[in-house]
Amino acid sequence: MPSSKTRIAILGGGVAGLVIARHTAGKSDTYSVTLFEQTDQVGGTWVYTDETDVDKHGLPIHSSMYKNLRTNLPREIMQIPDFPMKHDEGPSFVHHSVIREYLWDYAKHFNLYPHIKLNTLVKYVEPETLRNGQTIWMVTYQDLESKVEITKAFDTVVLCNGHYSVGHIPHIPGIESFPGGSIHSHQYRVPEVYARKKVCILGASWSGIDIAMEVSQYAEKVYISHNLPEPIDSKMSRNVEERPGIQSIQGNIFIFRDGSTAEVDNFIYCTGYKFTYPFMSTKVEIRTEGNHVEPTYKHLIHTDYPSLFIMGLPGIVIPFPMFHLQAQYILSILEGRIKLPSSGEMREEYETEKRALLEQGIPLRHIIKLKERQWAYYDEIAAAANISSFPPVIRKIYDHSNKMRELDFTTYKNYQYRIIDDENFVVCYCKPC
Ligand code: FAD
Repeated sequence: MPSSKTRIAILGGGVAGLVIARHTAGKSDTYSVTLFEQTDQVGGTWVYTDETDVDKHGLPIHSSMYKNLRTNLPREIMQIPDFPMKHDEGPSFVHHSVIREYLWDYAKHFNLYPHIKLNTLVKYVEPETLRNGQTIWMVTYQDLESKVEITKAFDTVVLCNGHYSVGHIPHIPGIESFPGGSIHSHQYRVPEVYARKKVCILGASWSGIDIAMEVSQYAEKVYISHNLPEPIDSKMSRNVEERPGIQSIQGNIFIFRDGSTAEVDNFIYCTGYKFTYPFMSTKVEIRTEGNHVEPTYKHLIHTDYPSLFIMGLPGIVIPFPMFHLQAQYILSILEGRIKLPSSGEMREEYETEKRALLEQGIPLRHIIKLKERQWAYYDEIAAAANISSFPPVIRKIYDHSNKMRELDFTTYKNYQYRIIDDENFVVCYCKPC
């Protein structure tokens, strides 16, 4: 006899996968939950590895963490609201290993391991329409140890395969002639290998600046090349020079858009990531262009398949707390408390919103970077799911830490925050560690 439980397949055991598992697996009368994780640990990108190429199964390394990385958000606004992080002394911007431990504790605390299949790669996901019109999902996965492949039916699929593991590499005329080493920030691990080298870093977003700061401690010279309208400022050490975008490369000479040139030994692309769903059947339309994915409703639901969810699309957000809301929003849909509009209406709403943003001059690749729009998004999905959104103190800490970063990105990670109540926080400056 078929089970009356909703069968949920969760693809990926990073934060997003763990959070949706926590909200569904506990309701064992309602849901039968399977979380597939290709590596031998949960935690996703927070599971650091020295490796940069392939893992023991020959799969591309997933984690983009580098050895010395400290978080770029304070832990007070990174923590998942129903599972506070331990408060140690010291700055709120913690080493990545603290986050990995926290996620392992989260999985244990909510007893998620019985639902998790480690070393299991999802290879193919295909929708099938039953005679009664219902869509089910055939998920083909492989046990990477035994190599056995199995296909199983699910009612709902939640994609949590992460968005920061496939580097976007723009083509630069002449790159083929560059004799030096070049990597994407996804493969960057330690700065020591750049000792006495002349390094060019392309891109001045979070990773670009962070990596330039690390590398400049060892390198002879660092050129940080970017197209930002304003200089990123003089807070970098003296051996760092800003240059505009790269026009072309001739051997080891980089030619920048202002006509200036530089001799370069090593090149690091800090040029963002491509969002990919290589396991998805072509029956499902998922159009991706860099970090832009469509068609989705509320940055989460496939407009044509309301039983297919994609967690973690929005960028420039507070990802862990956002997953906490997204998961409960999904639950409200599955349990019928939220009635979704028709596919056509969802698509129309999506198209209208996209058009409005493009008309405001926001390029396609920035649409998903919610920034200031994130707060309205949280309030909207929380209200729809009839749960509380975040208290004002979360936004206040976010704004404060951003301001400190704008003032001086070399010191902003030395602050320690403490939440006093829903409105107030205290902050103090710790000695650099
Ligand atoms: P991931 O953590 O990437 O997890 C995806 C999981 O899916 C992985 O375990 C992967 O192995 C698995 N998987 C993928 N494909 C398959 C498949 N086919 N079958 C089975 N399993 C599969 N966020 C912050 O809040 N604060 C920060 O300071 C911060 N710093 C960051 C620094 C870097 C360098 C990067 C790359 C990201 C940073 N982020 C930060 C963002 C971070 O990505 C998110 O916070 C969050 O970890 C994303 O979680 P996720 O579950 O969506 O994806």
